Amino acid sequence: MKVLIIGGVAGGATAAARLRRLDEKAEIIMFEKGPHVSYGACGLPYFLGHRLIDDENKLIVRTPEKFIKRNNIDARVNNKVMSIDRDKKSVEVEDLNTGKKYHESYDKLLISTGSTPFRPKISGIDLDGVFTLWDIPDALKINTYIKEKKVKRVVIVGGGAIGLETTENLAELGIAVTIVELSDHLIAPIDSDMAVQVLKYVSEKGIRVILGDGVTAIEKIDAGFSVKLKESAIETDMIIMSVGARPQSELAKEAGLLVNERGFIKTDRYMRTSDPDIYAVGDVTEVKNFITGQPASVALAGPANKQGRIAADNIAGITSRYGGIQGTGVLKIFDMTVAFTGVSEKEATRLGLKYDKVLVYHSPNAGYYPGGLEMAMKIVFEVPSGRILGTQIVGYKGVDKRCDVLAASIRLGATAHDLTELELAYSPPFGTPRDAVNTVGYVIENILTNKLKNVEWSSVEELPGEEEAIFIDVRGEGDYSVSKIKIDGFERIPLEELRGKLSQLDKKKPIYVHCNNGKEGYFASCIMKQEGFDVSNIDGGCLFRDCSLCDGETKA
Ligand SMILES: Cc1cc2nc3c(=O)[nH]c(=O)nc-3n(C[C@H](O)[C@H](O)[C@H](O)COP(=O)(O)OP(=O)(O)OC[C@H]3O[C@@H](n4cnc5c(N)ncnc54)[C@H](O)[C@@H]3O)c2cc1C
Repeated sequence: MKVLIIGGVAGGATAAARLRRLDEKAEIIMFEKGPHVSYGACGLPYFLGHRLIDDENKLIVRTPEKFIKRNNIDARVNNKVMSIDRDKKSVEVEDLNTGKKYHESYDKLLISTGSTPFRPKISGIDLDGVFTLWDIPDALKINTYIKEKKVKRVVIVGGGAIGLETTENLAELGIAVTIVELSDHLIAPIDSDMAVQVLKYVSEKGIRVILGDGVTAIEKIDAGFSVKLKESAIETDMIIMSVGARPQSELAKEAGLLVNERGFIKTDRYMRTSDPDIYAVGDVTEVKNFITGQPASVALAGPANKQGRIAADNIAGITSRYGGIQGTGVLKIFDMTVAFTGVSEKEATRLGLKYDKVLVYHSPNAGYYPGGLEMAMKIVFEVPSGRILGTQIVGYKGVDKRCDVLAASIRLGATAHDLTELELAYSPPFGTPRDAVNTVGYVIENILTNKLKNVEWSSVEELPGEEEAIFIDVRGEGDYSVSKIKIDGFERIPLEELRGKLSQLDKKKPIYVHCNNGKEGYFASCIMKQEGFDVSNIDGGCLFRDCSLCDGETKA
């Protein structure tokens, strides 16, 4: 059997190596148009300025020489596949070193051509000084430019994961960073109420963030560049475009394979395209969302890797199925960690799912153990079943672990009740005896069994006025002195004094309570509910509300 693989990085290299482990006899040729195969694209932000990774070779997992020696795989770098002839079962390749074109036949073909960074067609986009960060040559060019031009200011267009990782690494080099993001929040896969916490944090770190605005043109000026926005302009020394990607599916389209309206190659659960002898994996494909069953395309290394392995299994005759993509991601921005998996609230609303959500603030370790800043966890769940649909967590230590526990739980179809039963590793530096994930389960159970009623800050405006309802701030002195946020219209009755003052409250009026993070509000709700009050807790507390007031425009 002769197998050709187009694209030699995450999906392609994984498929090639797996196939060799399954079939010693197969002839395997992997074409890569770039100069490297099998490297860690995800590590590129950490190579900027040679700050954390000093040598690009450290990003390379396996060279073509190693592929030959260890795997007997012919990995041809600087060889671009130009077309696929499905009738003849062959591809045309151009050797970019020599310009020579040649054909190679196949029994099975695998496409793992990934995506290309989107470059909007605006004037100045091709100027020297405007970059994207997608592969090793890109990173080398950026490093050279920073050094030669003594870059002091950069505009990063796009506030997604790569934009933020690039922000951190350039800011740590002493470069002043401005992020320009077209949408109303950073990190598209998470909801805006969670993203504001990231916005507040990076703003406090001195990063200027401009939301809801886009670059319309880039002009060369004496002092560097002028980046034109809708109604303003920013002077900078360098621009990095990080505004998403497009699937590299031209080969597939021209060969008549089925692609969706956005250009992603349609695949079945065996990672087969509409041609049974051609497989496709990774960023270039449309697969199914594991939770919703809807078509989905997500650019993540883990799924590309898994799909590569599954395609190799099927090529080798072992039936192997891909269960669907879940969209689990994590990123570091300075000391902050942001992690997410599954369905966001935005997506749940868009799809018309029957869902509810909770916000839980929780310490990642024992309260008395140093260094445990609270994590903000938002969990979307199905009603009335309590099945967990997705989570987003923003915090510092321990965020990745909770996200992964929840990602695994979602994969196994867990409900809130299952979360309450998880027995998770505990000692003071790592967690609490009742872990944050258990707490999430308890809170959702309380809601599903009507022990707790939540309202959100965004709906406070629509609540009855002060004549028809009672608004209480139940923070004790300690919490009040931490946040010092006073919200108009809320009477302060600290939790400790609440029992003694219940007789002064009108039972006919609905009561809305808030605290710093929702916890004391919950305790107050329990007391009042048992006394017959109609009480609701404002989800996330006032720290969450305070965050949502951050608009991001900070002093540079
Ligand atoms: C800077 C950066 C940071 C990232 N960080 C993360 C992260 O932290 N976590 C995460 O999960 N994901 C991350 N990703 C995304 C992840 O790298 C991709 O999802 C993954 O590499 C996709 O694998 P793939 O095989 O589909 O495509 P790729 O790994 O991109 O490989 C596709 C290859 O195909 C080659 N190719 C295309 N057309 C042809 C042709 N005609 N002939 C020959 N070769 C061709 C391309 O040159 C390319 O090398 C990051 C990506 C970037 C760029």
